[in-house]
Amino acid sequence: MSVFNIANDEEILAGKASDVYFERSMKAVSGVKFNDRVTVEFTLSGPLDPWVNFSGLDEVVKLLSGKHIDLYSIPEGTIVPPRDHSGIPVPFMRIEGKYPDISVFETAILGFICQSTGISTYSSKIRQVLGDTPFVSFGIRRMHPAISPMIDRAAFIGGADGVSGILGAKLIGEEPVGTMPHALSLLLGDEKAWEYTVKNSKDTAKKTVLIDTYGDEKFMALKAAEMFPELDYIRLDTPSSRRGNFASIVREVRWELDLRGYRNIKIMVSGGLKLENLLELKEAGVSSFGIGTSISSAKPYDFAMDIVQINGTPITKKGKFSGKKEVFRCKKCLRVEVSLSGSKGKKCECGGEMEIMLKKFLSDGKAVKKYESPKEIRKRTLSELENLKRLSANPVIS
Ligand SMILES: [Zn+2]
Repeated sequence: MSVFNIANDEEILAGKASDVYFERSMKAVSGVKFNDRVTVEFTLSGPLDPWVNFSGLDEVVKLLSGKHIDLYSIPEGTIVPPRDHSGIPVPFMRIEGKYPDISVFETAILGFICQSTGISTYSSKIRQVLGDTPFVSFGIRRMHPAISPMIDRAAFIGGADGVSGILGAKLIGEEPVGTMPHALSLLLGDEKAWEYTVKNSKDTAKKTVLIDTYGDEKFMALKAAEMFPELDYIRLDTPSSRRGNFASIVREVRWELDLRGYRNIKIMVSGGLKLENLLELKEAGVSSFGIGTSISSAKPYDFAMDIVQINGTPITKKGKFSGKKEVFRCKKCLRVEVSLSGSKGKKCECGGEMEIMLKKFLSDGKAVKKYESPKEIRKRTLSELENLKRLSANPVIS
């Protein structure tokens, strides 16, 4: 067992981080040989948002490597509606193999994709609202430390510009982002704390000081600017009890800094920020955001795994759609269409070319290609968000 309350790698790989009913059922029928080849698909039960940014696949690939199964999936960082244009549930992943090789991993697979997709989707929604304004994932302290790298990775591929966690940053191949804690001002006083922070900022990092440990935001921002005119950012982390109208505070600080010629010093904010607050703060003059709990605690999406075919014969439980399926998406208008597997060469109503979205990742448990880096996946997210923007400005089909 682990020291902490977590499942370790061996337990997850052995299918132990699982609901017991799979194991019990398999034991109960232990004399029966399951040689049937089943196809299972993963669809989203809810919430049925207009789109999700799918993620968590990297861990599914690691979990299923070496097992006698084929894995197909929509790549991470792809923005997809949970239903196609006519309301058919979109399969995000498909696994083919013998049921005993799949069943004990269902719980873990769903856990990987449900939570990660929740975080990456929330992060993409922030990216959509903020446009080019940078934001950093600051939320790992509100979640179990064992999953902090997963949280930061999902936030990053969803569109965050950086992450605060040391392990998360290592996983995504970036330098972790951090400014200074209030504790430094408490221990040294503001002036000394700022001085050390500025002096020891790495050349590559932005010079950022936290200015609201003791004093008023406006007067402390001006004081910091006068002492260190080379600052990149002053950071406001105003407690909720003092906020009143946070956007107004930001607007006032921006005004006073500009008036005194400190246009170069930008404003960063953090603390209790949610998607719905961001646009107002950006318009008030915030140039960078540290966003914590709302990203790391993003609601997981309810994916479900269901058998849809056994030995080539479509079969599933009620409420689900049987048969092995393909997901097509129009390159031009992004219309998504779910069809039975085997259909090829589709054209969209708009005349655009339809591409197959489910790509093969594992063939009999072996990787078919090198897995993309988080940076490459994030690039896909950004281009997908651009496509959404282009389409909402110029819809191909109204
Ligand atoms: Zn189209």
